[in-house]
Amino acid sequence: MNPCVKCELFTAVFISLVCLTIQSPLIVGTTQPEYLITRDDIHAVLSKIIKPDDSIALLSDFDGTLGRICPNPVLTAIEPAAKDALEQLVKRSNIFTGIISGRPMADLRKRVGIDNCTYSGNHGMEIVFTNKTEFHYPITTEMYANCTKLKSILMAKYVTNAAPAWVEDKNISLVFHYRFVPEHLQEAMIADVSELVRKYGYNPVPAHAAIEIKPPVVWSKGHAALLILNEIYGSGWEKNIRVIYMGDDTSDEDVMEMLKGKATTFRITDNPGLETHATYRMQSVDTAVFVLDWLVNNTN
Ligand SMILES: [Mg+2]
Repeated sequence: MNPCVKCELFTAVFISLVCLTIQSPLIVGTTQPEYLITRDDIHAVLSKIIKPDDSIALLSDFDGTLGRICPNPVLTAIEPAAKDALEQLVKRSNIFTGIISGRPMADLRKRVGIDNCTYSGNHGMEIVFTNKTEFHYPITTEMYANCTKLKSILMAKYVTNAAPAWVEDKNISLVFHYRFVPEHLQEAMIADVSELVRKYGYNPVPAHAAIEIKPPVVWSKGHAALLILNEIYGSGWEKNIRVIYMGDDTSDEDVMEMLKGKATTFRITDNPGLETHATYRMQSVDTAVFVLDWLVNNTN
């Protein structure tokens, strides 16, 4: 693949966004946001924020948010109720929908399977808008080479019968999965893999029974969310639209922090004590579906 920024119109926004950095770490011990579980919980929150004629940007993660986490990510599918609701929402003229995932673009689009939706893959490094314009974060040849080397080393060292880890290749990034590795081997393996990843200039990021292996760039799902909102609505969008973001993982915290004060964000977690930058925490994929259903039933 020849990395490039395909659309010049993104350049100014892109340059300003790469200058943004995450500056406020979570502060342990502070009061954490409300934990939402039921349809009534969702109704109580959204009915205070959204009026039927509001312009709404609905942004969401995929795995663990619109589809349940599976032991092998190959098995994860969009929740049928989520798909039903999204298919109705993409037809609404005052609702924009975008899905921002760690999956490669082609895989994400295939699993969601909805037209008229903006997709962003590889943690925001690839974006395809509904008008077919595309954004690709520029990756250097050296980064590609290091990614290939890392994959070979990880496969040779860890993908064995004794330690059944596996490496997912996402073209410009990797994921090291250790869900089926015996628990007593995991801690040392995580430390070893993380050190190796850093040695090749990549960043190891904890995920669900996995290590996301990301290229050394200042770009996240949060940057992608801002680029999408600026592209669709122009600067000053926060004064004119209601933005919702839902996600379940560490990488979603970047969006939750960067949209703080400008969006209503939901962190899905089964841990009601989890520290988060989100406006609200919520329990599960089912609760995320309640959000989608609420929008279907309460907006025009
Ligand atoms: Mg997720």
